[in-house]
Amino acid sequence: MTRYFEVIGRDGPARRGRLLLERTINTPALISNDRIVSAGSLWSFGSVEEALEAADGTIDKDKLFIPPHVSVPLHVEPPVDLPQIETNGPCGLVVHPFFLDEPYPADVYIMGAAGSLRNPRELLKAVLEVKEKTPPDSALYAPALATPANLALLVYLGVDLVDSTRVVVDGYLRRYHTHDGSWNIEDLRELPCRCQYCRAMEKEDRPDLQMISDHNHLKLEEEIRLVREMIRRGCLREYVERVVRVTPEETATLRLLDQEGRYLERRTPIFRKSVMYSNTAESLHRVEVTRYAKRVLDRYRAPESEVLLLLPCSARKPYSKSRSHRLFAGALGSWRKRIHEVILTSPLAVVPRELEEVYPAAHYDVPVTGRWDLEERDWLLRCLDAYLERSSYKKIIAHIDGELREAVEEHGIDAVYTGGGTNGEALSRLTKAVKKAAIDASVLDHKKLRVRAVTDYFFGSQSGDLLLAGEVRIKGREVQNGDKKTLATLTPNGTIALTIEGARRLEPMGAHIVEIGEFLPRGDVLSPGVVDADEEIRPGDDVIVRGEKAFGVGRARMSGWEMVRSTRGVAVELRKVEKV
Ligand SMILES: [Zn+2]
Repeated sequence: MTRYFEVIGRDGPARRGRLLLERTINTPALISNDRIVSAGSLWSFGSVEEALEAADGTIDKDKLFIPPHVSVPLHVEPPVDLPQIETNGPCGLVVHPFFLDEPYPADVYIMGAAGSLRNPRELLKAVLEVKEKTPPDSALYAPALATPANLALLVYLGVDLVDSTRVVVDGYLRRYHTHDGSWNIEDLRELPCRCQYCRAMEKEDRPDLQMISDHNHLKLEEEIRLVREMIRRGCLREYVERVVRVTPEETATLRLLDQEGRYLERRTPIFRKSVMYSNTAESLHRVEVTRYAKRVLDRYRAPESEVLLLLPCSARKPYSKSRSHRLFAGALGSWRKRIHEVILTSPLAVVPRELEEVYPAAHYDVPVTGRWDLEERDWLLRCLDAYLERSSYKKIIAHIDGELREAVEEHGIDAVYTGGGTNGEALSRLTKAVKKAAIDASVLDHKKLRVRAVTDYFFGSQSGDLLLAGEVRIKGREVQNGDKKTLATLTPNGTIALTIEGARRLEPMGAHIVEIGEFLPRGDVLSPGVVDADEEIRPGDDVIVRGEKAFGVGRARMSGWEMVRSTRGVAVELRKVEKV
């Protein structure tokens, strides 16, 4: 159980937190030696007993205390197991990433031999091993590893604490670091930095090694500030996609991480305030993209519509608000009620109209060139095939043009291709095709379909039917029962917020339930109060809080698995709670 570290914000695996030493350290952070007291390596003592005895005298509650540890190279199994020491203060435990069983409770886990993690696969494996085997509310410290160029990636992987050891030592070896990589200082014709050390060095014939170190340290400090800001803004991923370009190794690490879908998915919020930029090849593999596609295929049910209309995306989101989609809607007129619309786009592939507000469908931006590269095409067509396989349209109209039309048509999708476009002629082609196809089609209740789709998207298949059972009506963004009591509201964020009545309807599904102890929570539910929680809950999800004495609804601040394993932090922000 940790008492000295608390996570206060998340952006994927990256966290902002507080390490409560005498003066609080806001993580991710550089930790300096004066904040740490280490009992030292076991090898500097005559015996285990001697080491433990000496350790007792060095405990300092104001600092991070590191009990005696066994220092070994990365791939050597530590030959001795040391017993746990009671510290009564903030404790940092050295762990060996490749030989890790159940480590003792600690506030900070320090990755042994982290400085020699240079290979992308090893770095990733080491971090993931330690993260899986240590509590989620503890901090991870990777010593002697950070540089200004790799810092954002380390934090994105889940590292909370680093130090400047590597760049300071590099300075004495004439290695000059910047956010864009490092060079031997003698190979630089001019110094790209204008800090006081660099200005001073320019005046000298031979660079002062101490000054290179000081400059390097400064660059690392600047970078950590920027990284913290990126986490606050919820756009560390975009930043990391950009900075890993510095070396092939870093790019490889990010790509390998993306292949570890589960690690990222379990830590990725359901919604972010920031716009998701899809600027790189890696963007196509983001959790937000694969999660959306997976839920459209697994949870979403297309309405029993006879006619499907395929449309292109628009720069403005949600699409309905864009000029082109308003023109499409105008051209469809009252026929719109008889057809189902799906938008084809990169990187989300298939966006049913009902889910156009769900994150990230209304919150992404891509460089628009009209070109679809092979990987994008392949992803789009695989998703479209899978989508069509699960639905029962009799006719498809494709109002798309350019390379998008080419891709869909060449793939052999049997549709009426109206040529796309938004000019008068194009729109009348669209009207004509829809009239012809939908003449016998039945009218759909698009408002209800939207509520059903959004509910299924968040709570799982069939939950929409439960929410909408019996007499219900949709008023604006609210779902009401026969007594005009609100069951749920579609939020402007694209999520759905349940009321107590709505939660009662969904409760039998068993999804998104947070079981709490025998108490009536006031304000937020803290993680020690959580007895059990649905493994599928992600930060930002609407949840149902249930206990012997309380029933309520709220929004998850952490993932379900994290609520169960954490001993600190807010688990659920309660919106409404009732005494049972
Ligand atoms: Zn400088």
